[in-house]
Amino acid sequence: MANLLKNFLNNQFVDAAFASGSVDLVSPVDGSVLNKVPLSTRRDLDIAVANAKTAFGAWSNLTVKQRAAIMFKLHHLIDQHSDELAKLIMKENGKNMTEALADLAKGNETVEWACSLPQLLPGKILNVSGGITCEEWRSPLGVVAAIVPFNFPAMVPLWTIPISLTVGNCVILKPSEKVPLTMMRIAELMIEAGMPPGVFQIVNGAVDVVNSMCEHPDIAALTFVGSSKVAQIVSSKCHALNKRVLALGGAKNHLIALSDCDVGMASRDIVASFAGCCGQRCMAASALIVVDQTDDNSDNAVINEVVAVAAKLNPGQGAGEVGPLIDNIAKERVLKYINEAEKGGAKVLLDGRPLAASGRPGFWVGPTIILHSSKDDLALKEEIFGPVLSIIKVKTYDEAIAIENANPYGNAACVYTEKGANADYFTKRFRAAMLGVNIGIPVPREPFSFGGLYGTLSKFGDFDITGDGALEFFTNRIKITKKWSASYGTSSNNVALGGGDAKRMKVESTIVDKANFDGKM
Ligand code: NAD
Repeated sequence: MANLLKNFLNNQFVDAAFASGSVDLVSPVDGSVLNKVPLSTRRDLDIAVANAKTAFGAWSNLTVKQRAAIMFKLHHLIDQHSDELAKLIMKENGKNMTEALADLAKGNETVEWACSLPQLLPGKILNVSGGITCEEWRSPLGVVAAIVPFNFPAMVPLWTIPISLTVGNCVILKPSEKVPLTMMRIAELMIEAGMPPGVFQIVNGAVDVVNSMCEHPDIAALTFVGSSKVAQIVSSKCHALNKRVLALGGAKNHLIALSDCDVGMASRDIVASFAGCCGQRCMAASALIVVDQTDDNSDNAVINEVVAVAAKLNPGQGAGEVGPLIDNIAKERVLKYINEAEKGGAKVLLDGRPLAASGRPGFWVGPTIILHSSKDDLALKEEIFGPVLSIIKVKTYDEAIAIENANPYGNAACVYTEKGANADYFTKRFRAAMLGVNIGIPVPREPFSFGGLYGTLSKFGDFDITGDGALEFFTNRIKITKKWSASYGTSSNNVALGGGDAKRMKVESTIVDKANFDGKM
């Protein structure tokens, strides 16, 4: 009998007392049922919100250094437990060990960045006019919710949680119901790191919890990462309530290979980008546009080499192997795109369908490469989220840019070239926010911010999810303008001991001296 998972409230694992039912947590590797995930409801969320509101006062009153000290411990603990956590990621998500360790390491980089917030959070002060100063400092928002997808069980939750917590918020996470185990274990490590009860909590579930988080009057802000369809719903609901929201959606990332690229390096990178993590990455290569003047549609050095490199990949969870898709729905969706492209006249240069039909338990489709002759093929235009690379050949730079620019998503784009001028030509014209030159997964690493382009299906809402963009998202800027009477701070005012300021200054210096002697400074 599969165990029913619990929620993580006030540093304890407790039953989802008001759950409307449960869903099976299914292994993508072999289709077995691993656990059952409770479908928590608004009343379960209410308990978490009440706990978080209680915890917020003391947590937000700690110094940022004290909060960062907990993050230092968490960073160490995640490192120490990386093998155990990576195995959980392999089990629930299907990644291979290298990918699972990278998922953790990248998430832990954000924990590390949060440890530097004492250096980054100081505000500013300026004498803006005669006798008038302006000060600005950042205050936390309160209770913040995070809703995450299945494809990075550790990294995506850890994009937001450490930053949000370190600036003083309390966080309630709704993990993907397809991969809740890794963050449940990280919750235990949070306790070991010294996180007080109610500061970080997990409410398991699906649509009901998401809707309740959007509508809850005591949740001040919400981050969402997932499909564009849900990102759009979540952002509209939150905006209607004047709630701060950042909702990152799907992607259709275009890579452009120019004839002056390093064929070997580009091909290895393109294959790693489209087939790594079984193509289930919002930064994965999905469409490859090859700029080539020749008339023969299929003969091109990059295309030939990409097919040759990808053909060597084996299914499995060993180093360099390609794991399964998350579930049967994903498998059926991927196969549909391949079948329809072929029916429409596209050529399947590498076919992952035999693996899908092999009867292997779990949800496997092998790396697939499709050469299109029509720009209108759906596989070339829509997000597939599987190990499929759609290739099209064009004759000019501007045709390549027009195809990239016409796509409604705006996460990543990359150009392969050995010439700086060509790289500049493309990076200035791409319609995406995270750009690569000879790098097919151009994930900006801290201190740079992660997030797609506004006004596309990849991003709804405000700011970015990591780096300075996240600092902006997770805090309010408090502005104070001060004016004192003209005599403030003058010697006559201080000498005339009736002045309240002089007395206050004296009292303050006594407090400082006492703290110093007590060893508190
Ligand atoms: P999803 O949208 O199905 O689910 C994401 C979250 O929303 C889950 O926690 C899920 O429980 C919840 N949810 C699902 N349907 C809902 C509904 N109708 N109403 C309310 N909540 C709902 O996404 P997924 O399949 O878990 O993840 C894959 C998608 O995430 C892909 O589109 C991928 O591109 C995207 N993604 C984007 C980024 C990014 O940074 N832009 C990063 C990772 C993944």
